[in-house]
Amino acid sequence: MIVKPKVRAFVCVTSHPTGCEAHVNEQIEVVKNAGISAAGPKNVLVIGASTGYGLASRIVAAFGYQANTIGVFFERPSHNGKTATAGYYNTVGFENAAAKAGVGAWSVNGDAFSPEIKDQVANLIQEHMGKVDLVIYSLAAPRRTDPATGEVFKSALKPIGNAYSNKYLDTDKRTVEVASLDPATDEEIAGTVKVMGGEDWKLWMDLLQSQDLLADGVLTVAYDYIGPKVTWPIYYHGTIGKAKVHLNQTAKTLTESLSGIGGRALVSVNKAVVTQASSAIPGVNLYITLLFKIMKEKGLHEGVIEQIVRLFRDRLFAGDAGIPVDEEGRVRVDDWEMKEEVQSAIEAVWDEVTTETLDQYTDFAGYRDDFLRLFGFNIAGVNYEEDVEIEVDVPSLKG
Ligand code: NAD
Repeated sequence: MIVKPKVRAFVCVTSHPTGCEAHVNEQIEVVKNAGISAAGPKNVLVIGASTGYGLASRIVAAFGYQANTIGVFFERPSHNGKTATAGYYNTVGFENAAAKAGVGAWSVNGDAFSPEIKDQVANLIQEHMGKVDLVIYSLAAPRRTDPATGEVFKSALKPIGNAYSNKYLDTDKRTVEVASLDPATDEEIAGTVKVMGGEDWKLWMDLLQSQDLLADGVLTVAYDYIGPKVTWPIYYHGTIGKAKVHLNQTAKTLTESLSGIGGRALVSVNKAVVTQASSAIPGVNLYITLLFKIMKEKGLHEGVIEQIVRLFRDRLFAGDAGIPVDEEGRVRVDDWEMKEEVQSAIEAVWDEVTTETLDQYTDFAGYRDDFLRLFGFNIAGVNYEEDVEIEVDVPSLKG
């Protein structure tokens, strides 16, 4: 089948198998050339491993440190002539490359919030690794079923307290619009904390610890975002920000419960990048187009893979000096995004950005390109006019 992008608002409903594999291979090359030489993790579990920051974490672990990895994700294989989701094809590419490199890779496709998937992963760790020394928690999910009650909670991207009105980018129409969002209800706030807070992270770690599947000195890391004041009403001070407060509190609780085995839980604050999750946050996409232009001009631009290389190489596994953290105990790799020179340059033009001045002030083209690349399009060396087999299997999931 010849596969072309079909974009609907902030998702692309098709993805390209060869393109996704090539995109993964590009990221592997970045890691191989990143000068990683220190010792690092050997057996790694990544929860949310098929796209974005989780996939980048899996790639850095496997190709920067030759670690065996187990990746958990929720993706749709190809069916009825429809392409699989990008995360599924990414994992095919990842596992093929891992097999060539001789590093272990096992994948689990299902709902990470469910007890069944947790048990399946625990069995895999026991069978193939014995214990894990690094657990990355990188889920971005719209809903979660509470395993104790069966109740379904939904996450919302809304301001808290007051309505919020700001500019956003309509990527389909290529226009700058203004939208107003009503404040979240108490139920929406609580739902977002249930889905995107730390409760499930703790369930994972408690289960693995109770089954003696965590190595001495285990490290677990979850991802957070703070960003600039212009996005705070919708992000940092909004429903998702409340969930991240819970995530940060959970890191502290987890560090206590892991103290017996010398373990530690950390939150890493990462920079804004184009992922399937971030594309859906109103207003954040416009900010990202400005951020990209300014960071590229200043030679500071990073995508997911460069961010996670820096997180592992320069923060988590930098050597004996210990992991540098801020006053709240968080690891920061958003330091370049938050540089005064970057933020003041964005603030200076924020009010000037309109549909007419989009090309002048933003890197809309770069944003669009990154977005299509998430689905395996616009990747150098891939022939998009060629017929491709869309029904491919993740090797470790073949029945
Ligand atoms: P993403 O959409 O690219 O990836 C989400 C991952 O979660 C995928 O692997 C998906 O399969 C998996 N997933 C979703 N629901 C699942 C379920 N029920 N069971 C199993 N797997 C499931 O998202 P991302 O942007 O990489 O976000 C990952 C984390 O990084 C989030 O905590 C996010 O807040 C944080 N973060 C993102 C940004 C950004 O700009 N994108 C910046 C800083 C921090």
